[in-house]
Amino acid sequence: MDIFKEILPLKALLGSLRSNSNSIGFVPTMGALHKGHLALIEASQRENSKTICSIFVNPTQFNNAEDLAKYPRTLEKDVNLLSKEGCDILFCPPPEEMYSKTSHLKFDFGSLDKVMEGSFRPGHFSGVALVVSKLFNIVNPDRAYFGQKDFQQYKVIEKLIEELKFNVTLRSVPIERESDGLAMSSRNSRLTVDQRKNAIVFYESLVQAKILLKSGSNLKSTLETIKENVSKKDGIKLEYLELADTANLMPLENVSPKAILLIAGYVGEVRLIDNLLLAE
Ligand code: AMP
Repeated sequence: MDIFKEILPLKALLGSLRSNSNSIGFVPTMGALHKGHLALIEASQRENSKTICSIFVNPTQFNNAEDLAKYPRTLEKDVNLLSKEGCDILFCPPPEEMYSKTSHLKFDFGSLDKVMEGSFRPGHFSGVALVVSKLFNIVNPDRAYFGQKDFQQYKVIEKLIEELKFNVTLRSVPIERESDGLAMSSRNSRLTVDQRKNAIVFYESLVQAKILLKSGSNLKSTLETIKENVSKKDGIKLEYLELADTANLMPLENVSPKAILLIAGYVGEVRLIDNLLLAE
């Protein structure tokens, strides 16, 4: 695997790969890689002759300095995992390679980045869109792979590609879960043994809501009851549980097959998110 910390030599290699008719699949990550990330790498390998992964803990998408400081960083282990997986290129720039000191660019996605994650993490999606725009400009991939785990992020990137006319095909990859159903996340490594057990409440709530809603239970009272139950659990702070339209992420008044349940909250100090498509 070729590893780059700088943009110019990476662009030179990508240019020569492209002139030799290679297709390029791109998997942007923040590292501390797990099987969820590897599923994205595998999806890229199936469709492209070369796969590039980036690892960059992007400061502009963190609205909480402590979360940024405590975000797990395991570069050596990540390099081993990616090499074993047969990833062709890793781009892992330092912050100063990606940002000038005077950068103030901001993005606004209308209602899409104001609900759920956007409302609890102001500025988060502006930072995501900024770094992904930079990465798309640097890598210029044929296809880019994002996880359904961050469904709202996926919708923001979809809009970004459409608005800025990036010549890239966006792919969504299903959520990889632990054997008990917990969505894999780099942040799971910060959970204590007890917190790890309690963290399952988010996935359980999604499953319970889905069963009840599909069997005709009232939307509002179902979500309210589940929210109350989650909030009673020790060490859990629920931020939201919503049923939204997959097209635009607006909250739904009625159950529809195009709906997605989304949940977020804290287990201790660790913030986790998860979601479940109603049609799945
Ligand atoms: P992150 O490193 O958390 O920024 O995630 C990088 C990419 O991996 C994003 O597109 C995520 O949606 C995706 N991802 C994270 N966790 C999972 C998972 N459990 N299953 C599938 N994709 C995931």
